[in-house]
Amino acid sequence: MSWKEIPIGGIIVEAGNSVKRKTGDWRVFKPVIDQDKCTRCLICWMYCPDGVIEIRDISYKTSTGRLWTTTLEINYDHCKGCAICAEECPVNAIELVEEVK
Ligand code: SF4
Ligand code: SF4
Repeated sequence: MSWKEIPIGGIIVEAGNSVKRKTGDWRVFKPVIDQDKCTRCLICWMYCPDGVIEIRDISYKTSTGRLWTTTLEINYDHCKGCAICAEECPVNAIELVEEVK
């Protein structure tokens, strides 16, 4: 989009248009959830400033045999790699890995 197309005042004329912008493009590190370590406490989900941690109804059996009925997935189209989730995870189940493009 050229600056000439930006509405006067930079107003948002179309509600919900942020889903069309893939704001994860400039991420340097990306968070990866270790589903085995994750206790599904949802602290990362609460703290993520972009709301990109999604709770999926996908079962997951850990290596110790525990069966979870949910799996947490990160929407990398919009995750900016801020690392807040990794900082807040009480069991260090989120690792930041260098983004490869
Ligand atoms: S904060 Fe950590 S343990 Fe809790 S849901 Fe997120 S990844 Fe899992
Ligand atoms: S790195 Fe930041 S934007 Fe990405 S999932 Fe974690 S808290 Fe959300």
